[in-house]
Amino acid sequence: MVDSYLDDLPITYLKGVGEKVAEKLSRLGIVSVADILFHLPFRYEDRSKVVAIGSLKTGESSLFEGQVELAEVVFRGRRSLLVRLSDGTGFVTLRFFHFSNSQKQAMQRGQWLRCFGDIKSYSKQGIADVVHPEYQLINEAQRGVIQEGLLAVYPVTDGLHQASFRKLIRQAFLLLQQGMGIRDCLPQSMLSQRGLPTLVDSLQQLHYPDTMPSLDASQRPAFKRLIFEELLAHHLSLSRLKKGVRCDVAPSFKSTGESRQRFLTSLGFELTNAQNRVIQEILSDLARSHPMQRLLQGDVGSGKTVVAACAALAATEAGYQVAMMAPTELLAEQHFKNFQLWLKDLGVQVDWLVGQHKGKTYESITADIAEGRSNIVIGTQALFQKKVIFANLGLVIIDEQHRFGVHQRLALRDKGAKTGVYPHQLVMTATPIPRTLAMLGYADLDLSIINELPPGRTPVTTAVLPVSKREQIIERIEKGVEDGRQVYWVCTLVEESEALQCQAAEVAADLLRECLPRLKIGLVHGRMTAQEKQTVMMQFKQQALQVLVATTVIEVGVDVPNASLMVIENAERLGLAQLHQLRGRVGRGQRESHCVLMYKAPLSKNASERLSIMRETTDGFKIAEKDMQLRGPGEILGQRQAGFMRFKVADLVRDAELLDQVALSAEEVLRIQPELVEPLVHRWIANSVEYAQV
Ligand code: ADP
Ligand code: MG
Repeated sequence: MVDSYLDDLPITYLKGVGEKVAEKLSRLGIVSVADILFHLPFRYEDRSKVVAIGSLKTGESSLFEGQVELAEVVFRGRRSLLVRLSDGTGFVTLRFFHFSNSQKQAMQRGQWLRCFGDIKSYSKQGIADVVHPEYQLINEAQRGVIQEGLLAVYPVTDGLHQASFRKLIRQAFLLLQQGMGIRDCLPQSMLSQRGLPTLVDSLQQLHYPDTMPSLDASQRPAFKRLIFEELLAHHLSLSRLKKGVRCDVAPSFKSTGESRQRFLTSLGFELTNAQNRVIQEILSDLARSHPMQRLLQGDVGSGKTVVAACAALAATEAGYQVAMMAPTELLAEQHFKNFQLWLKDLGVQVDWLVGQHKGKTYESITADIAEGRSNIVIGTQALFQKKVIFANLGLVIIDEQHRFGVHQRLALRDKGAKTGVYPHQLVMTATPIPRTLAMLGYADLDLSIINELPPGRTPVTTAVLPVSKREQIIERIEKGVEDGRQVYWVCTLVEESEALQCQAAEVAADLLRECLPRLKIGLVHGRMTAQEKQTVMMQFKQQALQVLVATTVIEVGVDVPNASLMVIENAERLGLAQLHQLRGRVGRGQRESHCVLMYKAPLSKNASERLSIMRETTDGFKIAEKDMQLRGPGEILGQRQAGFMRFKVADLVRDAELLDQVALSAEEVLRIQPELVEPLVHRWIANSVEYAQV
């Protein structure tokens, strides 16, 4: 039995770690001696064999030996020492920009050197070039006598060098050899069942491998074990969060459903089966006395707003207030108008609160909220300022949540909490999340999916055209308008500033007005006030405008069913999720819709793949899967990644196939050795989450 664990020793226990170094290490999440062993190498250098100079390859790091032929100090822009080495098979030039006199003196013709370095390039004469190699002077008898094997190379940070990490890790292993232990947080039975090595063996293999590790992570049991462990830690951490919430108390809404029935009857359309199903899922959550934590996923146009209204009515009928948060003022106002229209005969007071509300208006709205006259309040983040106090908040709805992070969401929940009673939460997103990702990234939420669009929608046909076809595209707009269509022209400039994007939209609007003098063309961009934006959007909705030139501000939520042609400029610069969102603005009415993705040639391989996916499918889930492959999961989860989803060794795309097993194993750990959960979560997540929150 081991009686002391590296997990319990502070990193300062190691030689060479004072306060300063400890502080730097803590920024990497390294706090205990055990933590340093999880600082893993990202590659290895093969120092086990001497490579003949004639066989050195560009881009490789190699060990080679040679005899000095020539050493000279040259001035080409800067003073440098050039040393030419030969071993009979070829020549190599060593280049030093910083060197001492004694270093130079040692480079006598005929002196043997053993060097290790990156082969940068070859000169025209076929001579390899190495900048600042590590080297040592050897005598001829020592040639080829190598003691080292594979050397791990660690990620470094400012002020902590490669050598420092190597020394610290070496010390930690010495402690292990002297009888200390490190906690293995996976049950022994699980290791044998899955054929995974113990923690100590894994770490040993990762830091000091016997043979050059394969590039393919799945071929490396040592690595696989840590990946598995990390994924498991994330899974357990989120399910613990979920369990914790499960224990909290929330108001239970037992409504007769009368107002919902009246609302649905007034709608003028039947709900889809999918909408009915998710409404039932939500209502049954709301009837319980624990907070609902539900993610409602439905592709653009699938009708999430109606579902949100039904949830809201369950709360108001039970006498509770509802806060609904949208990412933009434009969208908040659109929801506000919809809700007002829908609920006006039901005696429900709907208000909205956004940044533009100031002075008296602001005071009167917040007073209505505080005194409980407001039943449903729709707004932006402005809703969650300190000054806004709800009389009786029972349900929080967050629309288009990919804009909000998990921490914001939790903060929001706490804000609504009153004397230990928490509001229910419904999170709505139009960004389809691949199943694998949802299993981890959203393990703290229950999932409802609207997998069906309202009837009568025809899928959008998408064309991909180079910018040189602009004139034909403009002609197409004219024809479309003659047919009674309305048109979006979307200007995008992602990397540049918002100001530039707005300017580009102005230029595009001018150009279109010039080419299409008979058409009514409006412009909406991010630099206009919410009021101005709203006016233009209203004109477009009421068909007073035929063409709307817009920046990506229209990406979320805007609903104009008669718009059936969309042109997106610089489409090659946008990610798949954003293109999908934008395109979702058309195809909402009865008639067939078109989307033209305009690009500037030449297209990168990645961009061309993105555009063809957009042409091939309108299925949000397919697009999301592809997006995850092309961009990686971090980008898709957005802010979520900061914190929970920052992985040290796992990669959700590469390791997706492990996730099913991880879910099973999480249950198993909880069943057979629940005491492992805490140390496991602590090891992989605790430190990094704390730092991510700062
Ligand atoms: P999203 O899920 O993208 O938020 P919306 O809630 O904005 O979609 O709905 C898109 C449009 O479809 C709206 O005009 C809405 O009134 C309409 N709609 C919603 N549900 C149905 C339905 N079952 N049948 C017909 N139209 C519907
Ligand atoms: Mg919406």
